[in-house]
Amino acid sequence: MKGLEAIRRAVTREEAAVIEWLLRHGEQGSDRFFVQIETLKIASRCTCGCPTVYFELEDNQTSRKGERLVSDQLGTVDGEDVGVMLFELNGRLSPLELYSCAGADKPFNLPKLEDLYTFEDASKRQASRSN
Ligand SMILES: [Zn+2]
Repeated sequence: MKGLEAIRRAVTREEAAVIEWLLRHGEQGSDRFFVQIETLKIASRCTCGCPTVYFELEDNQTSRKGERLVSDQLGTVDGEDVGVMLFELNGRLSPLELYSCAGADKPFNLPKLEDLYTFEDASKRQASRSN
């Protein structure tokens, strides 16, 4: 079962790099969030063993209603495919969410930058595999 643990820290360099990559490959206009990366603070994290983190929102807002997907991509960690998603709420970046594509519940880390890919890349890979 998914749980949340309150923590308070700045984003790591690895997280910042993944967020930046997601914004580069996200929906049109995602680049407006670049300026927020430097000041992002993590407020809580998922306790299931995945690297999902939730950023601090303005005014200690606790409701995450109205969250919107900014970027929805894929990555590979230890040979497993994972989904990598970035959301925003009221113009502020909110969670960086990761999930196992296979639905496995074993813990995994943040994918390395070079192991991230888009859905478009994924279909190209599949096409070259079946050729
Ligand atoms: Zn989790």
